[in-house]
This record gives sequence, C-alpha cells and structure tokens, in this order.
Amino acid sequence: MTMDELASDLDGIVATEADISAALDRLAGEIRSDYTDPSSLLLVGVLKGAVMVMADLARRLPPGVAMDWMAVSSYGAGTRSSGVVRILKDLDADLTGRHVLIVEDIVDSGRTLSWLLGNLRSRGALSVEVATLLRKPEAAVVNVPVKYVGIDIPNAFVVGFGLDYAERFRGLPYVALLAPHVYAEDAE
Ligand code: 5GP
Repeated sequence: MTMDELASDLDGIVATEADISAALDRLAGEIRSDYTDPSSLLLVGVLKGAVMVMADLARRLPPGVAMDWMAVSSYGAGTRSSGVVRILKDLDADLTGRHVLIVEDIVDSGRTLSWLLGNLRSRGALSVEVATLLRKPEAAVVNVPVKYVGIDIPNAFVVGFGLDYAERFRGLPYVALLAPHVYAEDAE
C-alpha cells in the first residue's frame, strides 16, 4: 500500500503525534508522583493494542518499573465487546505485594477492562489502577474507574498508535478516523 492509498483510507486526525506526546508526558508525571517506589510498580498491557502506549509510557518512567503482558479474547456479537473474556496468555508475574497499573490504548464501553480489574484484583495486588491514552464518551459514564486519562476523543472508530482495523494501521504514529468507505468495501 502506498502512502497515498493509506491516507485515502483515513478521514482526519483525532490526535497528532504532538498531542500524544504531550498526553503521555502528563500521564507519566502523574504516575511518577503517585508511585514513589518504582520497584513495586508493575505495568500490565493487553496485547496487541497497548504495545505503542506501553513502550512510550514506560520510557517516561523510572527504569525500575516492571512490565508484563496478557493476551485475551472477548466474546461478543459484532463489534461490541460483551465482557466475557478468555485468557490466551496470562501474566508471568506474581501480583502479590505489587502495585499494578493496567496500561490501555483505548477505553470504550469498559466491559473488557471491568473484567480485567476484577481478575487482577483477586490476585493479591496492593492496588490495581488504569491508565489509558484514549477514552471515548461512553467510558466516562460507565462505572469503570480509570485513574489516568490521556485524551478524550469523539465516539467514532479510530486507528493508529496500536489500534488496528483488520490488523492494519497499528504502526501509524498518530490516531486517525477510519474513512467510511473502508468498512463499506469490507461489508460487500
Ligand atoms: P470496551 O470493552 O472498552 O468496549 O472495548 C475496548 C477494546 O475495543 C479496546 O481495547 C480496543 O481493542 C477496541 N476498540 C474500542 N474502540 C476502538 C476504536 O475506535 N478503534 C479500534 N481500532 N479499536 C477499538
């Protein structure tokens, strides 16, 4: 795919590289001041969308901070997650006595996250909190406590900075709206 073809699949930028960088600087500042002992902090990312946010956030935090990963699949009808989740790859780390910070790319309905919070809280962690780069409007009204929020975005399907459409666009350094003709072509 050429750069022109790529650009024609997108419909405007929702968060520029500069917006993302500023949001991550702010989140890292808040996290640094809240977690005074970096060696007790474990960042947990859910594959694959959180890879970019994790990499850029972790580089803004002290070197003693640890990272771990989970892979989950959520069952749901169509594009909405149901909150019924199966663990495909579990954490390597024992959470006993650790402060856990779940690092998310985006929170929408919060269903998957709410399941994850319950699951990790049952494993003996000292605390479990959530940091997300992007938040959609629905997430602000559901009862999922997201302590660190980067950028509030409109209720539309976005790609880039880890977020995909059919595994494409994850590598974009910014977040953009997917052009409607892309869904339409795939629905044909
Ligand atoms: P939730 O359980 O909060 O509804 O779903 C969150 C998950 O849905 C995210 O981790 C992400 O994988 C996916 N998701 C939600 N909104 C978007 C979006 O606008 N674009 C993409 N690519 N994925 C999204």
